[in-house]
Amino acid sequence: MTPLKAIRAKCLNCTGGEYKSVRKCEIEDCVLYNFRLGTGRPKLKIIRMYCLDCCNGQKAEVKACTVKRCSLYPYRLGKRPLKGVSTQKTMPAEAVLEINSDNMTKCIDWNIYL
Ligand code: SF4
Ligand code: SF4
Repeated sequence: MTPLKAIRAKCLNCTGGEYKSVRKCEIEDCVLYNFRLGTGRPKLKIIRMYCLDCCNGQKAEVKACTVKRCSLYPYRLGKRPLKGVSTQKTMPAEAVLEINSDNMTKCIDWNIYL
């Protein structure tokens, strides 16, 4: 899942899956706001900022986040989980991801590395 799709999935999660509510979101100061419709080129630091907000500004809490079902999880540190490897376009938003001891992100549902 690309960062943009991860943001889109997060916004849908935020609204309980309501596309219309994402479009009509009035929280303009949310860092994801400009990308909520799945358009644009978000920098990874945007996701990092959102995760810091989610964890009350605590960097250690973002790093220790255990919510692997969150679509932003792979990007929560403001870095790509792996360079040069494209991810599956059709991966479900709620795919279960885990990072192994080699710092590789694996989709548990599909048993593939991203
Ligand atoms: S922009 Fe922020 S507040 Fe609005 S739907 Fe997305 S995550 Fe929720
Ligand atoms: S990845 Fe973790 S810290 Fe970031 S938004 Fe999701 S639950 Fe919060």
